[in-house]
Amino acid sequence: MIPNTTTAIDSENGRRWRPAPALHVSVFLHAAAAVWLAAHLPAWPWVLGVLVANHLALFLAVLWPRGSLLGPNLVRLPASAARRREISLTFDDGPDPELTPRVLDLLDRYQAKASFFCIGEKAAAQPELVKEIARRGHSVENHSYHHHHAFAFFGVSRLRREVDAAQDAVASITGRAPVFFRAPAGFRSPLLDPVLAPRGLRYVSWTRRGFDAVSADPRRILRWLTRGLAAGDVLLMHDNAPVVLAVLPVLLEQLSARGLKAVSLASACADEPGE
Ligand SMILES: [Zn+2]
Repeated sequence: MIPNTTTAIDSENGRRWRPAPALHVSVFLHAAAAVWLAAHLPAWPWVLGVLVANHLALFLAVLWPRGSLLGPNLVRLPASAARRREISLTFDDGPDPELTPRVLDLLDRYQAKASFFCIGEKAAAQPELVKEIARRGHSVENHSYHHHHAFAFFGVSRLRREVDAAQDAVASITGRAPVFFRAPAGFRSPLLDPVLAPRGLRYVSWTRRGFDAVSADPRRILRWLTRGLAAGDVLLMHDNAPVVLAVLPVLLEQLSARGLKAVSLASACADEPGE
């Protein structure tokens, strides 16, 4: 069940929604199909074929987490942050009562700051832990309320409820409403951006991920995370995957050796206006 929400539209920080390229193309194709069918009804198999191809293309865009066909998508930090040698570690799917406190201790040991994309209902169940994440200088961001695997296929009103309930859960605990959103499994709906824009939420995916939710091999995860590692990267990990405790110290050591500074997304993007 989703609790009643109060956040809704952020009139101060909201941005104007502009249809993404994939939506422009889809609207044009559907309008053209209607006009064409009105004049050439026998051509319906061709028109249907074009529309099916269009929906298939949208589906593939949903499955492409780092793409921006469905709306703005932060895959790297702004150039100003890269010039400062900053990098962002992001942790999804927490907070976890066992692992998150240990992740926080490791981050403290290296004076690293991170962003935690918490699941709203887990945050509501662990308010003290969420407070502790924020108290230690990290940012708590929105990863939907329930983390449904079918999130990308929800209609607009259900997307709104998922986003708003998580905003409210985090804001009521930390006193700060999230400013970044990441979809469950990174699969975003073509209907998501019109929900995020008026709420002032920016969509974030990642530069590189460690697949720590599916692999338990720390060396392999570390290789995935650090292949081509550079200033401005956004790395995705999970603070509910036990392997993170083996990966994180080595990763933080490598960042320090390369002169890279781990900061929260909010801090890295503070001097750059949202889209
Ligand atoms: Zn997730």
